[in-house]
Amino acid sequence: MQYPQPVTKLIEGFMKLPGIGPKTAARLAFYVLDMNEDDVLDFAKALVNAKRELTYCSVCHHITDTDPCRICDDQSRDRSIICVVQDAKDVIAMEKMREYTGMYHVLHGAISPVDGIGPEDIFIPDLLKRLQDETVQELIIATNPNIEGEATAMYISRLVKPTGMKVTRIAHGLPVGGDLEYADEMTLSRAIEGRREL
Ligand SMILES: [Zn+2]
Repeated sequence: MQYPQPVTKLIEGFMKLPGIGPKTAARLAFYVLDMNEDDVLDFAKALVNAKRELTYCSVCHHITDTDPCRICDDQSRDRSIICVVQDAKDVIAMEKMREYTGMYHVLHGAISPVDGIGPEDIFIPDLLKRLQDETVQELIIATNPNIEGEATAMYISRLVKPTGMKVTRIAHGLPVGGDLEYADEMTLSRAIEGRREL
């Protein structure tokens, strides 16, 4: 079916989102056309502002509207522990738990030879630089419990352990193959508590 050009553009826009196929994209596009103009404008502004006003923290690479981010800037947090996660969403999941008071390092991905993603493509070199600071005593590796996450954990551990730093991996209370961000707070809290040394 041939849609008017603006509708086609809108459908194409929705199709760029994860998990949205052509049918869902068309349904969303027609839903937007039925919305009142103010709501559409608010929605469009929220999209643009989120992109414009958010940046990555220059220390931990978490998404933030201040640099350094509020977590890195919080002097009450324990600077001797850094928790390595794959995504900004994982930081948000960990923070919801309200038990972890250390610092974070967001890799923005995991090592995946199949997809051509190597250590240099995610923020591993930056992590190694941060670890040169002697205040850091422990590195908790909280990458996802799947092939890429495990490979990334092994890679980091192999580089860092020889320096004598304590390197731990969160426990496998987490569903294997699952994403950290989907773990409930209880599971996540137990996974941190039961972390084992690598
Ligand atoms: Zn930060």
